[in-house]
Amino acid sequence: MQKDIATPIRTQEILKKYGFSFKKSLGQNFLIDPNILRNIVSHAELTEESAAIEIGPGIGALTEHLARTAGKVVAFEIDQRLLPVLADTLSPYDNVEIIHADILEVDVQQMFESQLQNYKDVMVVANLPYYVTTPILLKLLMDRLPIRGMVVMMQKEVADRITASPGTKAYGSLSIAIQYYMEAEIAMIVPKAVFMPQPNVDSAVIKLTRREVPPIQVIDEEFLFKVSRGSFVQRRKTIINNLQSSLPNGKSKKDIIIQALGKVGVDPTRRGETLSIEEFGKLSNELYEEFH
Ligand code: SAM
Repeated sequence: MQKDIATPIRTQEILKKYGFSFKKSLGQNFLIDPNILRNIVSHAELTEESAAIEIGPGIGALTEHLARTAGKVVAFEIDQRLLPVLADTLSPYDNVEIIHADILEVDVQQMFESQLQNYKDVMVVANLPYYVTTPILLKLLMDRLPIRGMVVMMQKEVADRITASPGTKAYGSLSIAIQYYMEAEIAMIVPKAVFMPQPNVDSAVIKLTRREVPPIQVIDEEFLFKVSRGSFVQRRKTIINNLQSSLPNGKSKKDIIIQALGKVGVDPTRRGETLSIEEFGKLSNELYEEFH
């Protein structure tokens, strides 16, 4: 087996060979600990019949561990300077494809159909660029890709929000948007010392597993997310106050909103953070006709 890309010494050698300088604006914090990488990949439970999609391969630290475990790896990298580096570091692996693209712009669905149809299951596995973690996750979920799940590293604070339960401080519209599609858990907390350069914030890896059926059938998913976002605009306010301000003409339709809350058994003086996804789902169905 090849020597790992992710040892501190080899990483330094590669960076030096290519005169590579980190771009903070692209969230470039590379992993330099093979144990952490093995751990991340083990959470993905890949086999030779699996494929992995990676966002931001960097110099290939995680990519090579994926290539050793999965049947195929497709990785999207935005930074053109990394393409020759990856061609070099990943040359021992013939099951990796690097696509030079901004993950937020690219048609992942089309790549999926043309390249990953024949794999038994597909996982997204990545050490995400922290400045765009949420847009990337939401895009991949909204694209409705037929993936089994994701194992992704991010800022711990965002991981806490994604995995939060109702009634906690971290629970909010992001928890709902993700947990509507996926079961979410924190897989590991990661110390700053395993990155080069070290980020300013703590990190965590979360595991998302696609739900076979959503926790509640809603008339319109977009509208569910609108209602939940609108219920958290001012966290300390009651749900009735927040919905009155956030729904179109909500102020003059207070009675209709109170009626809808009553129908689904939610006291108007509760705060948004106490409602479960099921309650938000029922509420959005009740409000749909009047406000969508
Ligand atoms: N996977 C590598 C590792 O763990 O060492 C690098 C991870 S680093 C946190 C994030 C990577 O994402 C960088 O290589 C960066 O250039 C890339 N990146 C940043 N924004 C991106 C985007 N919008 N689309 C694709 N790649 C992006």
